[in-house]
Amino acid sequence: MLVVMKAQATPEEIQAVCEHIEHLGFRAHPMPGAQRTAIGITGNKGEVDRGNLEELSGVAEVIRVSKPYKLASRDVKEEDTIIRFAGTDATIGGRNLAVVAGPCSIESREQAFTIAEHVAAAGAQFFRGGAYKPRTSPYAFQGLGLEALKIMAEIRDRFGLRIVTEAIDNASLELVAEWADVIQIGARNMQNFSLLKHAGHMRKPVLLKRGLSATLDEFLMAAEYIMSEGNYEVILCERGVRTFADHSRNTLDLSIVPAVQKLSHLPILVDPSHATGKRDKVLPMARAAIAAGADGLLIEVHHQPDKALSDGPQSIYPEQFVRMMDEIGQIAPIVHRKLPRGLHIDTTPTETHAAHVK
Ligand code: PEP
Ligand code: MN
Repeated sequence: MLVVMKAQATPEEIQAVCEHIEHLGFRAHPMPGAQRTAIGITGNKGEVDRGNLEELSGVAEVIRVSKPYKLASRDVKEEDTIIRFAGTDATIGGRNLAVVAGPCSIESREQAFTIAEHVAAAGAQFFRGGAYKPRTSPYAFQGLGLEALKIMAEIRDRFGLRIVTEAIDNASLELVAEWADVIQIGARNMQNFSLLKHAGHMRKPVLLKRGLSATLDEFLMAAEYIMSEGNYEVILCERGVRTFADHSRNTLDLSIVPAVQKLSHLPILVDPSHATGKRDKVLPMARAAIAAGADGLLIEVHHQPDKALSDGPQSIYPEQFVRMMDEIGQIAPIVHRKLPRGLHIDTTPTETHAAHVK
């Protein structure tokens, strides 16, 4: 159920409707929009008696939301959600493309700083790096934990990049929410409902990656779990799904971008690194993602991928990242987008690096 307020409804009227809903034993989720505020109602088992609500001052109409996801749905909020970060031009959603770049894992202070310097100079607004790694093998590198979070906090101060990093359980969630700017929930945890609910209590945006074989509905329902707890700043991320294809690590499902955009107001990024698993496929798929209308990209970058402790084969070189930024910057205006930060470095590949830029 959704209460649509009149365009001229006052904050007091909105507050009174929320209180009325809570008084009935439900949860009210006011979602301010450009034209009007809508108030989502959750927690109801059956129908909410609409008669009463319609009579409250400032209410335009009360409508039923038929979709299983409500707060994530465009029915509740028509215009795209734009997530802003205080003190910076970095945004996710809206006209500006968001680029999240960095290594799969934080391996050392030096490694992280080297890569951060490159991606910042190339115009990324967000730095990613795993501190807690959900590895297939228990014997593989599991991440530096808190030490990595502290390194990334230094990177935020030094380069002005906002930090995105994954939480894998409730304990790491608390730390990630404290140290980072965006909490990532990985593909393997997309249906960890306890973790999703806890993330819903955090006051930081959540970047939710699509599950290994999740349908669109499952993906949006996972977002709904976070939103139903009161955290409305959810960023979706397509990272490929498991198919029979073996030429790439996963199969990038770009058609989910317009499918999400039709149904939901939430921003959606594309991660061609985990989707393809292969360095040479990252650039073409990054271009395709922007052309398809994605709100941005998540890209793994490493200056020494052969030595990387995780995901080396899919990590692109800094020079390739520069080229990617240059090319998506050219595609962006065709789809009415732009890269907010220009390149601060020469985009012509040098001779020594030309080989792997190809
Ligand atoms: C990652 O972004 O480092 C990661 C582990 O991604 P995913 O959850 O999509 O596999
Ligand atoms: Mn990775």
